[in-house]
Amino acid sequence: MDPTRASYFGPRLFVVAALAVAAWANVFKTGVANTDEAGIVLELPAQVGDWSGIGLLFCPDRSCGGQFTEAQLAGATACPKCGAPLGNMNWAERSLLPADTGMARKYYLRPGGRDPLHATIVLSGDDRSSIHRPQVCMTAAGHEIADERIIRIPLEGRAEPLEVMVMDMAKTVDSPDGAPAQYLSYYAYWFVGKGRETASHVERMLWMGYDRVFHGVSHRWAYIALSGQRLPRSDAHLQTIADFASRLHPALLKPE
Ligand SMILES: [Zn+2]
Repeated sequence: MDPTRASYFGPRLFVVAALAVAAWANVFKTGVANTDEAGIVLELPAQVGDWSGIGLLFCPDRSCGGQFTEAQLAGATACPKCGAPLGNMNWAERSLLPADTGMARKYYLRPGGRDPLHATIVLSGDDRSSIHRPQVCMTAAGHEIADERIIRIPLEGRAEPLEVMVMDMAKTVDSPDGAPAQYLSYYAYWFVGKGRETASHVERMLWMGYDRVFHGVSHRWAYIALSGQRLPRSDAHLQTIADFASRLHPALLKPE
């Protein structure tokens, strides 16, 4: 085999072939009578492995900025500080996202408060603009992306691993003594459409275009994001993400 030929054609052909086969399989399997459905449930479980989830609610008023756990509210639906009706988006999200955007979020902790992380599901509404490239939001918020890679997480009962994009981020903040300090965090995500799953923003855009042109539908895509702090010069967070995501994934599947 000519190695030059293989390296030139190999990756391109593989991508084209994979898309073509997947596309054909989808047409064959589902026909064109698709409806405008989401690919996952918009609900985060109370328990993910040994992580326990805490629900968070936000005040829509920017000057108030109230943020409460469900336990603190004890069933109250109005902001204890200003009386505005609470919701699951903070004021920034509420002002940036279309009103019919779906959102679920929880803060998770392992016993002893270990491995705390935020999990968020954003489900696009009718105009599909709720989901954009997460890298853009992060850099706009002052985070520098130090590293970015896709990790493959084995799933029980499925041959293909779950692919998750993990960004390592660093943000310069002021420490209490006034000296600049580095806040190190991670942001991990993957996208889910009806019958589709990818960690790649570009691949998601290709699928959206394909479904629109060939099926006349625009599915409600969701993105699932996990975020938390990381240690300097350590990849320990990758294992945390893998442990959590492999247990969260089956809980988000839609019942057939
Ligand atoms: Zn308030």
